[in-house]
Amino acid sequence: MDFDIVKGIGPKTKEYLAKLNIYSISDLVHYYPFRYNVLARSDLNNIPEDGKTTVDGVIDTIPRVIRFQRNRNKLEFRLQVQKRIIQVIIYNRAFMVRHLSPGKTITVIGKYDQKKNILTASDLYLKPLGEKPIIDPVYYTTMGLNQHQLKKYIDAVLEKYQDDVDLIPMYLKEEYHFLSKMDAIRIVHKPININLLKKARLRLKYEELFIFMLKIVYLRGKNREDKKGIVRKIDVDQFNKVISHLPFELTIDQRGAIDEIVRDLESNERMNRLLQGDVGSGKTVVAMMAIYANALSGYQSALMVPTELLAKQHAANIKKMLEPFGIRVDLLTSSLKQSGKKKVYEEIKLGNVDVIVGTHALIQEGVIFHNLGLVITDEQHRFGVRERNNLRNKGEMPDVLYMSATPIPRTYALTIYGDMNISNIKSLPKGRKEIITLLKKPSEIRDVLMQIKEQLELGHQVYIVAPLASESDKLDLTDVNQLKHKFNLAFKDSYQIEMIHGKLKIEEKERVMNDFLHNKCQLLISTTVIEVGVDVKNATMMVIFDADRFGLSTLHQLRGRVGRSEFQSYCILISDKERERLKLLTKTGDGFEISEADFKLRGQGDLFGVKQSGDMNFKIADIRQDFKILLKAKEDATHFIEKKLFHEYPHIEEELRKSIHLD
Ligand code: ADP
Ligand code: MG
Repeated sequence: MDFDIVKGIGPKTKEYLAKLNIYSISDLVHYYPFRYNVLARSDLNNIPEDGKTTVDGVIDTIPRVIRFQRNRNKLEFRLQVQKRIIQVIIYNRAFMVRHLSPGKTITVIGKYDQKKNILTASDLYLKPLGEKPIIDPVYYTTMGLNQHQLKKYIDAVLEKYQDDVDLIPMYLKEEYHFLSKMDAIRIVHKPININLLKKARLRLKYEELFIFMLKIVYLRGKNREDKKGIVRKIDVDQFNKVISHLPFELTIDQRGAIDEIVRDLESNERMNRLLQGDVGSGKTVVAMMAIYANALSGYQSALMVPTELLAKQHAANIKKMLEPFGIRVDLLTSSLKQSGKKKVYEEIKLGNVDVIVGTHALIQEGVIFHNLGLVITDEQHRFGVRERNNLRNKGEMPDVLYMSATPIPRTYALTIYGDMNISNIKSLPKGRKEIITLLKKPSEIRDVLMQIKEQLELGHQVYIVAPLASESDKLDLTDVNQLKHKFNLAFKDSYQIEMIHGKLKIEEKERVMNDFLHNKCQLLISTTVIEVGVDVKNATMMVIFDADRFGLSTLHQLRGRVGRSEFQSYCILISDKERERLKLLTKTGDGFEISEADFKLRGQGDLFGVKQSGDMNFKIADIRQDFKILLKAKEDATHFIEKKLFHEYPHIEEELRKSIHLD
């Protein structure tokens, strides 16, 4: 169904919706609220300590709009509430003023300061509260599209959208007394009471997790059919010789991980190992030694990474260290011309390459290996089950190594990835200085500029990160263009400044990153698209605007781009909100601790780093919060597959076929 069935969705609105990844009626229907405001009337004589208050009352004065710097404004009026007159202020809602005339009854949510008799509102509703609490859904929105408009479109669509594919088998629906899919969807968007809302959410979460676990269990079954691996004999002397030629001494954890991998490679069981280590802990060299061990026994390796630049960097590194020992390295990315690709394909097939480094291009049909013995995926959370599996299927029985900088507690890893061994790198390389992290307010920008200047004068480079996509319709976003202008004014005469963001073409992004890598530009302004894993040793400072918009783990990953050398590095977080939460980053550099805290603080951590990636791209479920549901779904999925029920549920089969290959 097309958007055209809804009135008012024109080209501009489509653009905004696209920013939220909504491209169809079905996307809109499945665009669920991320939280709910529960509106129950507070007693003004009995306000909780945090001041949180919801009241309804009659507007008593003509609202006044006060405008100030940078498109900001403040709306003020008096409200008669429970025989009292209180002062209400709300920021950046000038557009509501025409609905707010004296005599009108409205509902206000915010914080009430009893002493000053001022209610600082976060939300206004143009209706009174009823006897029962109102449960009001809150959606992520984007600039140009506010809650109200989004709700209007969803409402309109829900009226026309009658049917949704139900992916829970009948026998399970009966067992759990689940709501029907369409009822659940309607309730999630327009909850009637808390109880039903819980039921509706549970049902939708279960469905997502059931389908997810079906894929995992199915693929695991296939992999288990053949647990036999290649038995290798590795020349220890030669192997240790290469280790002694590395430009640095391995940390104990790196050495430990390498030993574990070598043991796996020698054994007759297939390796299935996850290598976890914080950003900058030095996972690449471990992968490199695994590749070397594999080549020593005569087999090819494939290393898959999420971006071209990272592929180039890894390939160059491996070349530098392993080519002197006779290892032939090649690179395969999608930007390679057809003729170039053909040549690489040929070399791989003939066995003239020992290790091939590349992006998704590695899993193209044309790629046929001579004898693939080891498959490695770097930043594995960026890939889906399908991609990982397709690569593994390029060999007869290759050993598999995943690398990740986002620590996943063991129980989760086991559930999600199956019978997997885990190696951890906890210690950082010697001589590495802890990144000094500072928390600054936007008003302290001068200070920050001075610190940037200091780094630039030392000959170092600086990342500036400014987030774009917004959670709400607030207008106080730091716009990257505006930022570039400001930095131009401050630094243009002496330094090169470049900008990188999602809208740039891939080649253009590559060019900019390459310039930065080679110090042709000293200041790099970017939205969060800074390539994962890229190693620019000379970059010693990262400044992050509107830091409160990010999860702690994401911030930690971001700052891991600096501090990659013996130079003292800095990360400056700029925000005047959620400073308590952000403070943790100034206190610890331990990725594991940070990801735990993130979960506790936000309820929903970005445990898997980039949220919109791979198969963890859930619309309503959250692996950690809903872990119990996940376990149930796993049990049910296992049963479903053991009993070979696919033929009874063709629509489930069809859904799975969208992302994995079924026999
Ligand atoms: P990540 O684990 O984030 O992928 P990398 O493998 O990119 O980290 O390593 C980060 C940097 O640390 C690289 O420049 C690498 O050369 C360097 N490095 C890795 N191991 C050591 C070590 N044992 N001693 C010193 N430097 C190291
Ligand atoms: Mg890396």
